[in-house]
Amino acid sequence: MVDKGLLIVISGPSGAGKGTLCKALLNKRCDLSISVSMTTRSPRAGEVEGRNYFFVDKDKFESMIEKNGFLEYACVYDNYYGTPREYVENLVNSGKDVILEIDIQGALKVKEVYPEGVFIFILPPSMEELKNRIKKRGSETEESLILRFKSAYKELNYVSKYNYVVINDTVDNSVEKLHSIIIAEKCRVDRYKDSILNSKEGLLHEQFYD
Ligand code: 5GP
Repeated sequence: MVDKGLLIVISGPSGAGKGTLCKALLNKRCDLSISVSMTTRSPRAGEVEGRNYFFVDKDKFESMIEKNGFLEYACVYDNYYGTPREYVENLVNSGKDVILEIDIQGALKVKEVYPEGVFIFILPPSMEELKNRIKKRGSETEESLILRFKSAYKELNYVSKYNYVVINDTVDNSVEKLHSIIIAEKCRVDRYKDSILNSKEGLLHEQFYD
């Protein structure tokens, strides 16, 4: 029997550094996979189809909704974003650990259907730093910057719905924390109870004690 992989959900306000941390974590742990979401927003400079997102129009996205093709989806900053169900379920069921970098609405939906997931909230070291980081991106209009600041303040209230919080002071520190969380989660007794301990080859199987 194959142990299921971890479904690791990473959220946090825009500008907290989720994207950078996920990238650095994937470099450190090549066995991890990341789910590529589908979105109706336009690609930013340098973004690649199928790597950053699958960029689709509203009709295509809505037809995926009808086919139950998303594990979750949400409307974020006036655009749709969704996690492809089949891709993620296949990986987790085959024992692979998968990261979902999604917003809070999406994370809470995943928590309802998949409470055994690992829910991690990334925080900036301060709100001032968060503002600077969003501005530095230089990719947003004034209107969308204000929208993102306002949402960031509101989103901080959801931290208690998550299992872990990582304050992103430096990339190295934060990646180390994420890596440690994954290691600890993989050692949890409840993740083993149906396989290693009780399966035919498991440590607790009675054949070994005859
Ligand atoms: P951005 O436009 O900056 O790439 O992403 C905007 C927000 O949408 C981020 O908070 C990001 O985590 C979130 N997001 C990206 N993909 C998904 C998804 O598949 N589902 C949900 N619910 N949120 C997503």
